[in-house]
Amino acid sequence: MRASTYPLVDVDEAAALVLEQTPALGSERLALGECGGRVLAQDVTADAQLPAFPSSAVDGYAVRSSDAGKALRVLGESAAGRPFAGIVEEGTAARILTGGVLPDGADCVVMVEDVTFAGDLVVVPGQLRPGSNFHGPGADMRVGELAVPTGMQLGAAELGLCAALGFSRLQVYRRPRVALLSTGDELVEVGEKPGPGQIVDSNRWALLAALREAGAEVTGLGIAPDQPDALRRLVVDALGNADALVTSGGVSVGTHDLVKPLLESLGTVHIGRVKLKPGKPFTFATLREGRVAFGLPGFPVSSLVTFEVFVRPALRKMQGFAQLQRPTLPVRLAYDARASADRTEYQRVTLKRQGGELVASTTGSQSSSRLMSLAGAHALVRVPAGGAGIKAGSIIEAMILNLP
Ligand code: AMP
Ligand code: MG
Repeated sequence: MRASTYPLVDVDEAAALVLEQTPALGSERLALGECGGRVLAQDVTADAQLPAFPSSAVDGYAVRSSDAGKALRVLGESAAGRPFAGIVEEGTAARILTGGVLPDGADCVVMVEDVTFAGDLVVVPGQLRPGSNFHGPGADMRVGELAVPTGMQLGAAELGLCAALGFSRLQVYRRPRVALLSTGDELVEVGEKPGPGQIVDSNRWALLAALREAGAEVTGLGIAPDQPDALRRLVVDALGNADALVTSGGVSVGTHDLVKPLLESLGTVHIGRVKLKPGKPFTFATLREGRVAFGLPGFPVSSLVTFEVFVRPALRKMQGFAQLQRPTLPVRLAYDARASADRTEYQRVTLKRQGGELVASTTGSQSSSRLMSLAGAHALVRVPAGGAGIKAGSIIEAMILNLP
């Protein structure tokens, strides 16, 4: 074993440095159907108003409000997509269906439930309000209004709005292409029976899910042995088609920890140790042509916590998200939280609603090898290094992973 020469960096400084060194990716123009989950790289501004015409909100009769209380002659019908060509003059009405154009002359729609009939005539209520029961032109969106801004993720409603405004293609940020590699001579493929001293490569599957959930397109490089040349070949081959490299294992100071020297030979290592628990050996490097590399620790919880603290915000920056961090919510701690003397600790908790607040309970042993501390967790609670920790009953902001 040799001592690490990398300075221990404060976790916030490290997180800020990662973001500073991670470039946003370029954008591409995609058909609407390919845009779900992407982030807009353009403002979508209305160049037409919505609705484009006065559109009935109900089934009923288009009338003049000055004809309130009268029996009116029905001239025809305005259905959705089949407007009535005539004019609603005094003493007349047009039958209208939801989405039908309000005919000229009419200034309101009476719901079919509110009329009675006298022979061929329709009798409308004694009180009619001009403008009622139809959506006027531009009521939903005015010309020039900003519909969806740059940096917003395109979900169902945003995509529907873009379509309604006539945008069949959108300029969206690229997804990061990430090469994912597990390192370690002890690793075997899931499904294989581990021999003596071997373990299943579980980080690959955890990180694959985390990367995809964060918007990345992942190329799996499999398992690299603790052998510098083989590791190097795998990484160098993969970098041609990747914006980022994510590895797990091989970053602590044992003799088999080969990731840091490899990244040093390929670029600049900015971070080699962080005052963070779990995740002290987290490593970050910049490589040629704007590529970034994240050397995550091998312990399963350490790799996922460092993913949350460093990688996920960086992937969001690459994709143009305006919001890089997970949301936080105030929670009441149900346990005494203590951190180690010199490292900020991210503890895993479950949340339960109790009397209008969220109460956070520990997931038990916070060992960095114990994935059970993270499986089913709802939030991460940040406990400052040293000091008294955080007392049970305190209210603190927790980083939300999933709400119960
Ligand atoms: P390392 O950072 O390579 O020293 O690994 C630290 C610990 O994490 C060791 O106990 C490894 O066996 C374990 N580990 C490393 N890589 C993986 C992986 N891909 N899946 C599960 N455990 C791993
Ligand atoms: Mg290892």
